[in-house]
Amino acid sequence: MPRLLLLLGTALAVSLPALAQPSASAGTTATLGDPIFPGLGQAGLDVRHYDVALTVAEPGTARLSGVVTLTLTATRPLAEVRLDFLGPDVTAAHWNGQPVPFRPEAEAQKLVVVPPAPLRPGQEARLTVEYQGTAGAIFDPDFSPALRLGWQAVPAAADQPGSNFAFSEPNGTHAFLPSNDHPSDKATFTTRVTVPVGYTAAASGVEGPVVEGNGTRTFVFTQAQPIPTYALAVQVNRFERVVSPAVPVGVNGSPVARRDYSPAGTLDSTRTPYAHTDEMLRVLADWFGPYPFGAYGVAVVAPPLPALETATLSTMPPTTSERTAVHELAHQWFGDDVSPATWADVWLNEGFATYAELLWTETQGGDGQAVAARWHATLAQGGTRPLVATQAGQLFDRSAYRRGALALHALRAAVGDAAFRAFLHAYTARFSGRSLGTADLLAFARTQVGEAGAAALRTWVEAPELPPLPVLAR
Ligand code: ZN
Repeated sequence: MPRLLLLLGTALAVSLPALAQPSASAGTTATLGDPIFPGLGQAGLDVRHYDVALTVAEPGTARLSGVVTLTLTATRPLAEVRLDFLGPDVTAAHWNGQPVPFRPEAEAQKLVVVPPAPLRPGQEARLTVEYQGTAGAIFDPDFSPALRLGWQAVPAAADQPGSNFAFSEPNGTHAFLPSNDHPSDKATFTTRVTVPVGYTAAASGVEGPVVEGNGTRTFVFTQAQPIPTYALAVQVNRFERVVSPAVPVGVNGSPVARRDYSPAGTLDSTRTPYAHTDEMLRVLADWFGPYPFGAYGVAVVAPPLPALETATLSTMPPTTSERTAVHELAHQWFGDDVSPATWADVWLNEGFATYAELLWTETQGGDGQAVAARWHATLAQGGTRPLVATQAGQLFDRSAYRRGALALHALRAAVGDAAFRAFLHAYTARFSGRSLGTADLLAFARTQVGEAGAAALRTWVEAPELPPLPVLAR
């Protein structure tokens, strides 16, 4: 997918995200120059599709083998393809079917592949990488040191079988998948996961027929709309899979398939936060516009991690809340379908998803203004910052979530509910499948709600101090 959003036309004069400057040493070795993770990605590389075949022969261990075919193109001549990868050992690489040289650069967390001739702008190629061994471990920049991002291995214990799943945001996907591991390069995915009979695998997208092997099963999923690499769901467990009737809230009222996964033997109470998922889909589609993908549900995992908005299949810890459930669902629009251009812009995910909690509260008869007042009080007490993050520790902090949400509350207070809803619909329609920066949001707001609305938003984005609590006219 196009890495950088270039909006043409007179009405939409939108600036390029900060990311537009690739890191210093241009040429073919430049990374994407992300302000928070400068090592990620390759400038000029555009991965359009990942065909991922993973084999998990011993669930619960970090052992993994994979055959991944990337459909690539370039926006500048590339003499080398430098994928992010810190995964199992690579055993082969093929370029349009022909073996090609490759070398791991462990320090840089790269896999470098040398095509027979430089990849030219606009040219398409298929790069296949085969690997086998142990998934890499990527240190979480934010949370507990105990959280290693990427391929999670939950060992078998007396009360549970071994299981595996991806937990990757922000930069963990390349621990198990060679990729251009940055949200500015979104792609579609076909994911095939082969597991021993008795296990169930799940991944982002719509499920196809199961392929029976010799003591194995291969589960196949098609994610037809582009998503960021960090949002790819992969799950392996002895799951119970509960299918419910589709909900007609997709584009043009198309059905959204509903399926939820929880480990066999899960207590009913673990599923309570998801009891109203169908209504949440309706409420959020009403505010945000059509649900962007073909399916939605959750996969409950064993470890007490944060919840994560993996596309079409949110990853949920055993103990969580209805509020977190609606938050992760909202991320399907904001994060998975409309994505940040850089990690500095991640408040665009967290602020919108947090605001969905308030909107849900209102539809359940609660007091949204009181929710906003509580957010404001925690920021007043705990401190706050302008919304564009400047360091990794800010990516998922109080300001990204609550101040981000209050920025939207300020916009709503400035323009009223009808214009706010119209803005949200226009925003998701305009940026669906793309990545945008904070400046793009502000420019788009000016075109949609005028200077007063855009100014309300801008104050919350930029002010060094905490702006006053916005109050809805009622
Ligand atoms: Zn979130």
